[in-house]
Amino acid sequence: MVETLSIAVIGAPGVGKTSIIRQFIYNDFSEVHTPTRTRSVYRPSVILNGNMYELKVLDVPPLSAFPSSSSQEWLDLRCRGVRNANAYILVYDICCVESFEYVKMIRQQIVEHREGSSSEVPILVVGNKRDLQRQRFMPRRAVSVLVKKTWKCGYVECSAKFNWHVVLLFKELLGIAVARGMRQNHTSIRLQGALQRNRCTIM
Ligand code: GDP
Ligand code: MG
Repeated sequence: MVETLSIAVIGAPGVGKTSIIRQFIYNDFSEVHTPTRTRSVYRPSVILNGNMYELKVLDVPPLSAFPSSSSQEWLDLRCRGVRNANAYILVYDICCVESFEYVKMIRQQIVEHREGSSSEVPILVVGNKRDLQRQRFMPRRAVSVLVKKTWKCGYVECSAKFNWHVVLLFKELLGIAVARGMRQNHTSIRLQGALQRNRCTIM
């Protein structure tokens, strides 16, 4: 049985969401920023601690707000599947304070708008562009303490450009999600297809 986990990647425009996903799946990086206008779905397979997981990674275009109801989610094509994701990666640029404010707002809305125990969904905050750390707006330790202690989210810094900590961040999130038992059982085994597409990462 292969388990599927859907992960929504959310953040302000230009923070590096698409770069992180593409680096993770294809080991590929582009200096050119092509704004993501429609929602893209990637389906990599990963092996963690000997278990295979199928990930459904949603590259979410910029949203003005997290959808507050299922009907709102279905009316806006860009955010389909966002409310029911099993886990969230909230990306900000460590040199851009506005992108951190955006993550702060989305985190708050996830907690408020998801119902009942599903508001305890795993959230990993990711500070990207670590290679530009001389221009950061806040010391790493201060952000890490705020995110971990106050928000109760995981925190990882990475550089999609240099593929630094990119696998680690997915590993971290998957570890938290699996530990909390938030997964859906998949009925069909698509292991063969995943390996043929060469998208299987052993973490
Ligand atoms: P998105 O809008 O959040 O999907 O952002 P993109 O992935 O399209 O990246 C936006 C811009 O930031 C592009 O020009 C990327 O080349 C650049 N970028 C992404 N990640 C990094 C990084 O880790 N370091 C640096 N220096 N630039 C990055
Ligand atoms: Mg993008």
